[in-house]
Amino acid sequence: MTQNYTQDINLAILPGDGIGSEVMAEVRKVISWLESNHALSFTLHEDDIGGTAYDRYGEPLADSTLEKCKASDAVIMGSVGGPQWDNVDYNKRPEAGLLRLRKEMELFANLRPAIVFDALIDASTLKPEIVKGLDILIVRELTGGVYFGEPRGIEDLGNGQRRGVNTQVYETYEIDRIGRVAFDLAKKRRNKVTSCEKANVMESGKLWREEITKLHAAEFNDVELEHMYADNCAMQLLRNPSQFDVIVTDNLFGDILSDEAAMLTGSLGMLPSASLGETGKPGVYEPVHGSAPDIAGQGKANPLATILSFAMALRYSLNLRSEADEIEFAVQDVLKSGGRTPDIIAEGCQQISTSQMGDALINALDQRFKKVA
Ligand code: NAD
Repeated sequence: MTQNYTQDINLAILPGDGIGSEVMAEVRKVISWLESNHALSFTLHEDDIGGTAYDRYGEPLADSTLEKCKASDAVIMGSVGGPQWDNVDYNKRPEAGLLRLRKEMELFANLRPAIVFDALIDASTLKPEIVKGLDILIVRELTGGVYFGEPRGIEDLGNGQRRGVNTQVYETYEIDRIGRVAFDLAKKRRNKVTSCEKANVMESGKLWREEITKLHAAEFNDVELEHMYADNCAMQLLRNPSQFDVIVTDNLFGDILSDEAAMLTGSLGMLPSASLGETGKPGVYEPVHGSAPDIAGQGKANPLATILSFAMALRYSLNLRSEADEIEFAVQDVLKSGGRTPDIIAEGCQQISTSQMGDALINALDQRFKKVA
């Protein structure tokens, strides 16, 4: 929707490594399009993260970069990593930059939509009738649980045996704040939350179920809530994925279930994600895929996952829902028009490059905008 005043938006842009800079160039085209067609003005603060940051600053995330991110309205990231940094110290590796960014920005909620676009229905390994129209949102707790719980470590038992320990631990406030994110999102979607844990065998799961139930009764009883054991959820995602709207779960189960749900769509180059902290603080938006060193610099990368991540930033951090809708609809138009990057090529479609895909999207936005204007 066109507004009658100009909204100024500060974005931190971190292209990162490998295909990051190629796909981010296509996001910039979309940003320029929005500036030309809506009363929006973007200030872009570009910087390095990952291996490119290590080469420039000696750190995969420099303090000055982090400050820029914290001061922004949203962070749009490409991806990090590559074989040239394989021998760098563990705490200076590209991935360490990403982990630091998530930790320092207190991003406790990871949002991973799994959407099957009609034009790509054959890319899924499941039957078309099972995945048609699929639109699930997985909300994963990102800063707690077994990946961070103490005690942890590997202990030498002195008798030729060793013991590895990790601790699954959640406190009320952690369950409460992620539950709140899930219920709020469900209200803007199809109004259903499925909460997953293993309350049958884990005390932390029992607490999770009790706290989600309490929150639901106190503040969200207009949203449908169901509880499901995480192993059953893994099965149901393959058997009947359309039963789900929003799935909320802990860090470990979310890691696994979000990858499973993503693969229902069959195409890594199409998957966006968002990581959010407290309301009003900037979120980080990035594609699910990595830096794809095997195709970097060849114009083969699909930019749509990063463009869809930018659309999530418009929706969740910038409150520009109709602009986010426009971009998502334009992506569907592009896919229907038959121009495809190599990762999603199908019979009868024309192979196009990264930059041609960006141009095709701008063209689709133009067409839509003309229709509306
Ligand atoms: P990857 O996602 O980079 O690539 C897996 C396969 O998918 C490759 O064949 C690649 O060419 C293809 N692919 C990925 N994105 C694509 C796109 N947009 N368009 C077309 N094809 C695409 O995973 P990987 O090969 O396991 O990892 C490569 C590097 O990326 C590693 O250093 C890894 O640590 C890093 N990584 C980073 C992130 C992140 O930044 N969040 C996530 C995953 C992997």
